[in-house]
Amino acid sequence: MITIYNTLTKRKEELKTIEPNTVRMYVCGPTVYNYIHLGNARPICVFDVFRRFLEYRKYNVIMVQNFTDVNDKIIKQAKLEGSTPEAIAEKYIGEYEIDAKGLNIKKPSIQPKVSDYIPKIIEFIEVLVEKGYAYQSNGDVYYRTRKDDSYGKLSGQSLDDLISGARVEINENKEDPLDFALWKGCSKDEQHWDSPWGSGRPGWHIECSCMAKDTLGDTIDIHCGGQDLIFPHHENEIAQSEAANGQVFSNYWMHNGHINVDNKKMSKSLNNFFLTREVAERYGYEAIRLLMIQTHYRAPMNYSVDLIEACRASLDRLYQCRTTLELAVANKSSGVLSEEVQNHLETSRDSFIAALENDFNTADGLSVIFDLVRYLNVLVAKSDSTKEEIEAGLSLFNELVDIFGLLYERKDDGIPDEIHTLVEQRIMARKEKNYQEADRIREQINALGYVVKETRQGIEIKKMVE
Ligand SMILES: [Zn+2]
Repeated sequence: MITIYNTLTKRKEELKTIEPNTVRMYVCGPTVYNYIHLGNARPICVFDVFRRFLEYRKYNVIMVQNFTDVNDKIIKQAKLEGSTPEAIAEKYIGEYEIDAKGLNIKKPSIQPKVSDYIPKIIEFIEVLVEKGYAYQSNGDVYYRTRKDDSYGKLSGQSLDDLISGARVEINENKEDPLDFALWKGCSKDEQHWDSPWGSGRPGWHIECSCMAKDTLGDTIDIHCGGQDLIFPHHENEIAQSEAANGQVFSNYWMHNGHINVDNKKMSKSLNNFFLTREVAERYGYEAIRLLMIQTHYRAPMNYSVDLIEACRASLDRLYQCRTTLELAVANKSSGVLSEEVQNHLETSRDSFIAALENDFNTADGLSVIFDLVRYLNVLVAKSDSTKEEIEAGLSLFNELVDIFGLLYERKDDGIPDEIHTLVEQRIMARKEKNYQEADRIREQINALGYVVKETRQGIEIKKMVE
């Protein structure tokens, strides 16, 4: 049974999908006006692993993630770069895709863009106007929050709380300060589209309501995003969709925590953010991916040089384990797969699944993987372990790291085949108790600039440091 914490009901709930074995999920995507920072990378990594886990549990996952390619920030950036909004959006979609590929993100099933949705967005707004949930004012169209009794249910705030919180801008075109723009009128000199209310552009929130309906239907299973989107973005999505469709918009809401740097939230406005690209150039994308997985998705997480370096060291251990197991499969003698080993592996798999089924606890899942690594390294070092046992261990190891989408970056361990062959010959020599020959091969390996060591965790090959 999969349970997830639902922001809407504020408790952990069993995941029950609308259609059996199918999950329709919507994740708010990037506004493409710049390179993504680590705070943007977190939901991308977290919900990619969530999707992989659901697929591992045999769900057919339809995942939609939009590109916000029409936005005031893009227009501003276009002016800065002496370019057009269209060219800026295209450029940063390309840059986003480089980062997403680097982070080993599976392509979403559908990636709609706002610029392809303008007529449908206009239709959506027209429905809201007809139903009295929206009104035109000086070329703008606003959502009438006072008409919506349930407004504020996701963030758990009443309209009065929201107003006294002064988180809303005052605008004389609005009937009420809490009303938000569905359509913003603008002159024909700017990026614009024609509409029944004159030339203008859609507001930000309406795109997600419209795209989610078009791609996934009136009610979706899970809506995901960062915690900072709960208010106003997701609150407004619910308001628009439920008013227009007369149906529950999303049964579950999942939100990931933010990233802190020196105990302050990482954000563009505080100017304490790190671009994913910059961190990747120094530490590799895979270390970033691991960093995002090793903390429970709802908890705030820290970024520091120590932490990302620790992630690299953890990856070293995982890669090393895989190499050791592969070498052992090539060298161990055939025999039986003992019940003891088989039971241990099954228990590991069960614990891993249980951790992820429990509100998607990747932190606990990762601990299970590292316990497995310790166990397998000991197993390899045992003289009486069999090829079949190591094969079963390697297969489970690959199965679990695959769900996390890890071990994809280093195509090989950088150790030449010649060295691997010598290491294998040396293992054989030692097995035959031909220690003289084993020593001779060790010297040959050293002469080629590599060191081979037997550790409790198995065999380790390293390039000598000059
Ligand atoms: Zn959205």
